Amino acid sequence: MAADGHGFRTIDGLEVDGKRVLVRVDLNVPMEDGAITDASRIDGIAPTVNELAGRGAKVILISHFGRPKGKRVEAMSLAPLIEPLERALKCGRIAFAADCIGDEARRIVETLEPGEIALLENLRFHAGEEANDPAFVQALAELGELYVNDAFAAAHRGHASIVGLARRLPAAAGRLMERELDALARALEQPERPVTAIVGGAKISTKLKLLGNLAAKVDFLVIGGGMANTLLAAGGVDVGRSLCDRELLEPARGIIERAKRTACALLLPVDAVIARDFKRGAASETVLIDAVPADAMILDLGPRTVRGIRHRLEASKTLVWNGPLGAFEIPPFDAATAEVAREAARLTREGALLSVAGGGDTLAALAQAGVAADFSYLSSAGGAFLEWLEGRALPGVEALREP
Ligand code: AMP
Repeated sequence: MAADGHGFRTIDGLEVDGKRVLVRVDLNVPMEDGAITDASRIDGIAPTVNELAGRGAKVILISHFGRPKGKRVEAMSLAPLIEPLERALKCGRIAFAADCIGDEARRIVETLEPGEIALLENLRFHAGEEANDPAFVQALAELGELYVNDAFAAAHRGHASIVGLARRLPAAAGRLMERELDALARALEQPERPVTAIVGGAKISTKLKLLGNLAAKVDFLVIGGGMANTLLAAGGVDVGRSLCDRELLEPARGIIERAKRTACALLLPVDAVIARDFKRGAASETVLIDAVPADAMILDLGPRTVRGIRHRLEASKTLVWNGPLGAFEIPPFDAATAEVAREAARLTREGALLSVAGGGDTLAALAQAGVAADFSYLSSAGGAFLEWLEGRALPGVEALREP
């Protein structure tokens, strides 16, 4: 099977005609009252599924949904996704097996003709999925002859359908996985420099590892959002009543030191938009960062800081972005995130910048700023994207590498 130049196998090298191909997808779409609120994960798998079906494969879709913890939970059935899938794939009827292994699954799979598609029930109805139990892997593997993984969003899990199957059957990355890995490689592994990373969001606790890794890899590290407050406080700034992880001042100092050692320019806020209340329409003002009143909260970056970020972006060839720069859901605290997003979008449109962004809040913020479509690549993978930013090997990706 061919490796595509990044060391992992792709479906280019798979002989799929007439073969049963197990395709691991991520159908873990957000739902409210039985309706899908964002179908982008379903749309994302269409290129792989349609290509495989077009090449004569018998396509068997497998996915998890929610956290049923090894038990059958009707509310987490994949059955409601059949119709949206048929619509997104513009295909004929998709067959459904009410269990992902055993006689029911075998019966459905055996009826498939080349070019037809089946969906198997939620993998996590069996405890063997998350445990990567060899007997469960075997039961799944019996259903297919080839395995394709198109679920980057689940690649940080060492589960049966992600790692077990990849080791058990001839395996390859699907098109979505391939695009994601290509974009990530171009953003951090072999990037055009200078590289700017923008990291924001509420809390620093979940992003310490990621900051440490980025400080060693990028040229400019911009830190905004609530998490910047902890770094500011670690440097002696009085952040008033702002969100701040006081028990993490030591590790925060460690990040600042690390950036100095690696010649990564760290950009912390030099001014801020503050308010006394964290609510829509609260009276706000802009202050320099050393003048935050004791009874106020930092809720967005100020215009000077934004100008500094824009200059860095103009000097950069590559941008990696995770996390909003302020409390973007509540105007006017969306201003910095929106302005930086528009600038990154403009530079990307002009061909001057490769821009990769990921994480649920980040994508929501870019969509709110109206520029999501202009970014070079948007990753809808939350946990997997963050672990990749931390520099960790993702089990699901490693399992696809050429031996
Ligand atoms: P995270 O889930 O850690 O990526 O954090 C995203 C959340 O951080 C969003 O809901 C933002 O509203 C929030 N956020 C960003 N900046 C601030 C800030 N300065 N103070 C409070 N919350 C913030």
